[in-house]
Amino acid sequence: MIDEKLQPILNEVMNRNAGEQEFHQAVKEVLESLGRVIAKRPYYADNALIERLCEPERQIIFRVPWIDDNGQVQINRGFRVQFNSALGPYKGGIRFHPSVNVGIIKFLGFEQTFKNALTGMPIGGGKGGSDFNPRGRSDREVMRFCQSFMSELHRHLGEYTDVPAGDIGVGGREIGYMFGQYKRLTNKYEAGVLTGKALFHGGSRARREATGYGATYFVERMLATRGETFEGKRTVVSGSGNVAIYTMEKVLEFGGIIAACSDSNGYVVDDNGIDLDLVKEIKEVRRGRLSEYVKLRGAGAHYIEDGSIWDVPCAVAMPSATQNELTGRDAKRLITNGVMAVGEGANMPSTPDAVKLFQDAGVLFAPGKAANAGGVATSALEMQQNASRDSWTFEKTETRLAEIMRDIHDRCAETADEYGAPGDYVLGANIAGFVRVAEAMDALGVI
Ligand code: NDP
Repeated sequence: MIDEKLQPILNEVMNRNAGEQEFHQAVKEVLESLGRVIAKRPYYADNALIERLCEPERQIIFRVPWIDDNGQVQINRGFRVQFNSALGPYKGGIRFHPSVNVGIIKFLGFEQTFKNALTGMPIGGGKGGSDFNPRGRSDREVMRFCQSFMSELHRHLGEYTDVPAGDIGVGGREIGYMFGQYKRLTNKYEAGVLTGKALFHGGSRARREATGYGATYFVERMLATRGETFEGKRTVVSGSGNVAIYTMEKVLEFGGIIAACSDSNGYVVDDNGIDLDLVKEIKEVRRGRLSEYVKLRGAGAHYIEDGSIWDVPCAVAMPSATQNELTGRDAKRLITNGVMAVGEGANMPSTPDAVKLFQDAGVLFAPGKAANAGGVATSALEMQQNASRDSWTFEKTETRLAEIMRDIHDRCAETADEYGAPGDYVLGANIAGFVRVAEAMDALGVI
């Protein structure tokens, strides 16, 4: 339910951003949490801080022309939404996926603003991307695309202005090509302008692992509030990309069992527990499809093309692929099968009715903007290392990541308690993130 004072704000967002469903969904979810804040502190509403927060500071849309391996000219569309810089330079990933449009980038930038505030680090929120589909493209095609994308985007970036990273379809290879083009165009080795770089370009150890490890640390702490651990628990992780792979790695380290994982064509269930080395070989080395898993693994492994991965019984569910991938129907199935905790590795993977079902059933539920903040937090650690020309060990970086995730968990839990909703991590994350950004914006005046 949205407070009656906040409903006009949602109406205005929907009118002004017509057709941008994911953005509407993300704003609505946050506004549903803010009624209790403005009841306590009407100042935020009186000074239009919520309206200001819902309007991005800047939105850039541009043409990305490039030439494919057949010599044909291809045209894609590029986006960067610089959402909020009250706490620091815009910070947020770049997504290459055919589904990308301005509404998706805006929802991601909005979520990112709260997420980055929750980390307690000096970073604002932004997001970017393109409707370019890297799947099936050669390395050279991906390189030419990245170079063209950066030829336009570079004028909007800078280590004190806007610092992108990876997201769906953008990993170390793409970051390398974009960094190369930025360096060439600006004639500056400005390592702090992009994160997720290779180590020899000033990348941080543990950045690749950070989102998945961080989400697992968050769920571990959430389970501990009920005296539980991952030990022996069947866990289902959707996706088999960056976030999913390193979620699986940490769950295994914590003694959990990975029952299933997926890609956009289907999912794999393995009676003996998913063989993570094999998934890495298929997805990271060969850039192949998960359907190859069964042939390579042999007895006990099953590949299912039609259906939902959430039908697989588990104690912990970690949706780590994409937005709205876990529906109300899936939530009902998970609850019937005895799920105890859900940790969102992806951004907004659960639909609003799924979230409500989990919360009503007393399932521990960690929203993405809190649970997956470990990636951007480690990006901020990468910026810190770049600024001091330093390079930390894996252990030091992971220890910092674990501390940051513990603090985010506790901040969400304490805020939920303070606002009379114990155990509601959605409300805790939204309010804690909002208050930090709103205070920082207010102190800058009306700009
Ligand atoms: P990757 O591109 O590495 O992996 C994405 C995975 O999700 C792949 O297995 C992909 O399958 C699957 N997937 C993508 N789109 C769909 C779809 N429409 N339907 C079903 N499956 C899909 O991306 P990441 O792991 O980096 O990102 C995953 C999620 O985590 C996203 O929501 C992202 O915003 C979020 N996130 C990522 C962070 C990071 O540091 N990378 C930080 C915080 C959040 P296929 O291979 O078939 O395409």
